[in-house]
Amino acid sequence: MPLHRGSAHEGEPSAAQRRLALNPFYGEADPVAGMESAPPRHRMPDGPLPPHTAYGLVHDELMLDGNSRLNLATFVTTWMEPQAAVLMGECRDKNMIDKDEYPRTAELERRCVAMLADLWHAPDPSAAVGCSTTGSSEACMLAAMALKRRWAAKNADRYPATARPNLVMGVNVQVCWEKFCTFWEVEPRLVPMEGDRFHLDPQAAADLCDENTIGVVGVLGSTFDGSYEPIAELCAALDRLQERTGLDIPVHVDGASGAMVAPFLDEELVWDFRLPRVSSINTSGHKYGLVYPGVGWALWRSAAELPEELVFRVNYLGGDMPTFALNFSRPGAQVVAQYYTFLRLGRDGYRAVQQAARDVATGLAAKIEELGDFRLLTRGDQLPVFALTTRPEVKSYDVFDVSRRLRERGWLVPAYTFPANREDLSVLRIVCRNGFSSDLAELLIEDLRLLMPELRAQPHPLTRDQNAATSFHH
Ligand SMILES: *Cc1c(COP(=O)(O)O)cnc(C)c1O
Repeated sequence: MPLHRGSAHEGEPSAAQRRLALNPFYGEADPVAGMESAPPRHRMPDGPLPPHTAYGLVHDELMLDGNSRLNLATFVTTWMEPQAAVLMGECRDKNMIDKDEYPRTAELERRCVAMLADLWHAPDPSAAVGCSTTGSSEACMLAAMALKRRWAAKNADRYPATARPNLVMGVNVQVCWEKFCTFWEVEPRLVPMEGDRFHLDPQAAADLCDENTIGVVGVLGSTFDGSYEPIAELCAALDRLQERTGLDIPVHVDGASGAMVAPFLDEELVWDFRLPRVSSINTSGHKYGLVYPGVGWALWRSAAELPEELVFRVNYLGGDMPTFALNFSRPGAQVVAQYYTFLRLGRDGYRAVQQAARDVATGLAAKIEELGDFRLLTRGDQLPVFALTTRPEVKSYDVFDVSRRLRERGWLVPAYTFPANREDLSVLRIVCRNGFSSDLAELLIEDLRLLMPELRAQPHPLTRDQNAATSFHH
C-alpha cells in the first residue's frame, strides 16, 4: 500500500448494519439507547460520543495490533521503566521548538548533545555541535544536507551549472539514504554486496569517489545483518585517495543502532570522532538509546562542519534560538526521556543492558544453528542482531515459510531478499532488544522446534507471495 488513502464511504455499512459495533455496556445507564449510536468510520461523525464510548471503540480496535514485545523485526524501543513513562506523560504538552518557553527542556537537550559528544570522543566536546531530531532519518537528512552544502561551497564555480553531486555508500544502507538522494537530488553511488560480504568494502567505496562526491556514509551497523561496517578502514582508504588525488572526502557515520552499542561493548573499536575524517554521526535515541519513539541525534565534530546558513535563528518566540531541523513543532517528552535514561543508567548501566542484549542474541543464534537446518550469516556479536538463511540441502521450505509460521505463534520475524549482487539470498533477521529476555528467546526456540517437523514435511516452499514478507527497513 503506497500511502494511506481516504476511502469512499459507499462501502461503509449502514448504521443498522453497524448496530452491533458497540458493546451494549458502553451505553452505560441505558444500554439499549447506547446501541443506536454506531459512528461511521471513514467520515467524521455528525455528533460527539461520550469519552468512555470513544475510548472503548478505539481501544478495542487496537487490540488487533501485534504485541510490540514479540516484534523481533523492529530496532525501536518497546519497553521503558514506568518512571520514564510518567516523565514523558508530564512533558507531553511541551513543544521542543519553544526553547524559550521551556528553557529546562532545552537545557536537557543541550546536555544530551554534550554527553554524546564526549561518548563519541569529539576532540573538543565543547566545540561539537548537535541537535535532537525525530529519529535517525531526520538526523541523516540534516547531516547529508551539511555535506552537500559544504561541497557546493567548495565547488561554486561548477555547481549547479555543470556538476551533479553524488554520495557513496553500501547498497545495504537504510532507506533514509535513498530518500535523501531522491529528495535533495544527489546521485547515490552504491557499493554492491559480493559473496559473503554483506556491507560496504572500503576500497570499492573509495574507487567510486570523484570530485563530485559530497561524502561517504559508513553504517554502524547494517540493518540487513547487524554487522559493523569497517569505518576506520574506510577512512584509511579515503586517506590514500587523498594522497593520490588531493580529494578530501568526509565520512558520515550512520550509527542509528551501533553508536549506542559500540561505545559500551566495543571500546577498542575506533569508529567515531577519534577518526579525523569522521565529520558527523547520527544515532536513534529510540533504538539502542533505549527511549520510546521518536527521538534521534545528529552531531558534528565542530561548528566548521555545519554550514552556518543551514542553522535558522528563530526569534519570534521571545528568544534568539538557533535550530537545525526539518520539523518545527516536535514533542519534548522523548528528549526528556533520553536525559532520564542517560542519568538512570550511566555508562555502566548501558553496558549491562547492551551486553545482556548481545548475550541473548549470540545465545539464540547458536541455538538456532544447532537445529541443523540453518546457516547463520551473522551471530549477533556486533549489533545484537543476526541474519540467517536455510542450508542449501533444505528444499521443502524457505525463510518466508518460517516467517509466516512463526507469525501464527505471535512472533514477528521478517524474511527478505538481499540487494545487488546477492539477490539470490533470502534471510530471516532477529533483532534482540532490551526486554527480550533469555526466557522469551527460549520460548521462541521452543516454537521453532515444534514447527520444524511440519516445515520439513512440506512438499516444497509454500509462501508464494514473497512481497507479503514483513518489512524490515527499520
Ligand atoms: C533505523 C535506521 C535508520 C532510520 O532511523 P529512524 O530512527 O527509524 O528514522 C537509519 N539508518 C540505520 C542504519 C538504521 O538502522
